[in-house]
Amino acid sequence: MASKRDYYEVLGVPKNASEDEIKKAYRKLAMKYHPDRNQGDAARTAEEKFKEAKEAYEMLSDGQRRAAYDQYGHAGVDPNMRGGMGGAEGFGGFAEAFGDIFGDMFGGQRAGRGGRQVYRGSDLSYAMEVTLEEAASGKDAQIRIPSWDNCDTCHGSGAKPGTSPKTCNTCQGSGVVQMRQGFFSVQQTCPHCRGAGKVITDPCTTCHGQGKIKQQKTLEVKIPAGIDDGMRIRSTGNGEPGTNGGPPGDLYIEIRIKKHDIFERDGDDLHCQVPVSFITAALGGEIEVPTLGGKAAIDIPEGTQAGKQFRLRGKGIKGIRASYPGDLYCHIVVETPVKLTEYQRKLLRELEESLKKGGAKHSPSTESWTERLKRSFFS
Ligand SMILES: [Zn+2]
Ligand SMILES: [Zn+2]
Repeated sequence: MASKRDYYEVLGVPKNASEDEIKKAYRKLAMKYHPDRNQGDAARTAEEKFKEAKEAYEMLSDGQRRAAYDQYGHAGVDPNMRGGMGGAEGFGGFAEAFGDIFGDMFGGQRAGRGGRQVYRGSDLSYAMEVTLEEAASGKDAQIRIPSWDNCDTCHGSGAKPGTSPKTCNTCQGSGVVQMRQGFFSVQQTCPHCRGAGKVITDPCTTCHGQGKIKQQKTLEVKIPAGIDDGMRIRSTGNGEPGTNGGPPGDLYIEIRIKKHDIFERDGDDLHCQVPVSFITAALGGEIEVPTLGGKAAIDIPEGTQAGKQFRLRGKGIKGIRASYPGDLYCHIVVETPVKLTEYQRKLLRELEESLKKGGAKHSPSTESWTERLKRSFFS
């Protein structure tokens, strides 16, 4: 035998590697040289590498053989000894070789081995608009969604009454076909019958061979209080039906919150703009503000500036997972009076004169603004 690589070297583990380390190393190599990942020319090299790794793993994972190998090297062990699993047979035993440690990884993809392919139905999504009030307090809603009933004409078989589905010629009814992929063969869902094992030659005219008819049904949906825009509610099993007895998909109800006339939502907080006359802003006073539940009063202090915000604790929305409701922020918009009479104009001019006499102290914003301008341009 030509120079054979050391088993430890093949797996890339030290001589004192634990069983677990050996297993992990093999797993890694086998993943790397897996036929699904190595096509064409690379497949041949990969096959060699895989065989080498497999042999090393078989030797080193067996306590007795490992001891013999450690003592005598390659002369101490014969890879062909173990019932046909050795090198010569190579990839015939691929599935078996992978069965124990790769079952969890590849098992899923090979589902339906030797049987009809079962598919889960698709998920459906439904966009639902709710008002901000409904989102805040929750709602019991009814929606119309598609549902599928067995076709009465063919009783769900999909075949015209008097005829019956025929066994698929391509797969002989098994629902799967053997395909050669690289150097070993894999099972795939039969492309002709899509795994059903049967084909309908005379489709039922009522359901066009589907065996089921799409209808509408009413679904009661509980919208939880505090739900926010973009959140989804899952209604299990209300998606499309599965194929070949597979489970149905789910229905996702996606919440869209309608724009509100007054409030803007930011998480659990609400924001609103509150117009205040410039007289009230100057003199102070109590103003009424809207809340989601009704009204509240705010005391505006004397000399309130535009843009000032007042927070009303707990007047926001209680989020789905929150323990406390958010807050309501009222942003003050100072209103400039319009459509003034001559008399009102006169009063304002008089006021202006009076304010000018008092100097900059009456205009806190202008004062600081002028200061900043000076610092920027004239310093
Ligand atoms: Zn078939
Ligand atoms: Zn039918």
